Amino acid sequence: MIAQKAAEISPFYAMEILEEANKLEQEGIDIIHLEIGEPDFDTPEPVKISAKNELDMGNTHYTHSLGVNELREEIAKFYKNRYNVKIKIDNILVTNGTSPCLFLAFAGLLETGDEVLLSNPSYPCYKNIIKFLGGNLKYVNIYEDENFQFPVEKLKKLISKKTKAILINSPANPTGTILDKENLEEIASLGKLIVSDEIYHGLTYEGEEHSILEFTDNAIVLNGFSKLYAMTGWRLGYIICPDWLIRPLQKIQQNFFISANSFVQKAGIAALRECKTHVERMREIYNKRRLLIISKLKDMGFTIKSHPNGAFYVFLNVKKYTDNSLEFAKKILHNAHVGVTPGIDFGSNGEGFIRFSYANSIDNINIAMERLESFFDKLQ
Ligand code: PMP
Repeated sequence: MIAQKAAEISPFYAMEILEEANKLEQEGIDIIHLEIGEPDFDTPEPVKISAKNELDMGNTHYTHSLGVNELREEIAKFYKNRYNVKIKIDNILVTNGTSPCLFLAFAGLLETGDEVLLSNPSYPCYKNIIKFLGGNLKYVNIYEDENFQFPVEKLKKLISKKTKAILINSPANPTGTILDKENLEEIASLGKLIVSDEIYHGLTYEGEEHSILEFTDNAIVLNGFSKLYAMTGWRLGYIICPDWLIRPLQKIQQNFFISANSFVQKAGIAALRECKTHVERMREIYNKRRLLIISKLKDMGFTIKSHPNGAFYVFLNVKKYTDNSLEFAKKILHNAHVGVTPGIDFGSNGEGFIRFSYANSIDNINIAMERLESFFDKLQ
């Protein structure tokens, strides 16, 4: 018998689409993948050089459970330079990616039955991690008509004695939305602990991005190197948390993970110090792709009410065609040979949407858009 909490984890439909796409590819069909939330760029050279050097120097042992000081200092500098917030390295814990940060943060916070407020739609792993750790989810629907901002009045109504934290993600997966400064200020002013997933920070094309730490100290920041530095496979992330939480999280880290990878942490220093131009180049390319997808979808007659200004996603309303985004994504895959993610993956309020990832080349995006145009033409 498997544990109930393991049985309750929901499938990740994006992966099911990917697996079905792979099957079609094995049959010789050419598929364009716009369902994958992973940078298509190679990791910048300075990061690879640094890791190779570290390996040659024999840096292959455990590190301090909080992470190597030099990296934590560099992370503190990054937040100071970018957001003008002062962070002590004592409040930083380095992890094997942002996913372990989510696990650590909620493992450190939640008693059974504690509530976490989060948006619907949102990144699917949030709900699974919170439920797995005994927490209850309180969803706040966000809407494209409201530019996918967090409606603070609705948040207020949901706050109870059991509310442990409000979870935010900006720029967001799946909407590509950036929460406005005013929205962040309002959320911070509620006085509740905020868990802010800032993994897409730096991938902003229009508007300003802000760290929650600019508005409150009562916050836990989760961040990582996967997206901005195209380092998904390296597994590197970090938590910035208040004094009262760092020691409990350190103890969980020691027992569950011991430490983040030693040579990867060193490579992370190279990412922060030496990769500004690499990041800027990738950001400019993402932006060209973003503008291309938006204009092609508009040419096909879609209205994009909420402009996706960050991350690398476009969340498209296809309610005029379907109320079953999973079936629709499969139909697109089989008929247009384009992989997209069904909105239902991100929550009930994502139903009727499909998510495009533009972590793919301009050439492939052009082909995908041509295929989709003829697919939608036939549906008319
Ligand atoms: N948060 C969000 C919103 C994400 O989209 C992802 C990756 N898809 C993660 C966290 C986890 O990233 P990683 O574990 O690679 O750092």
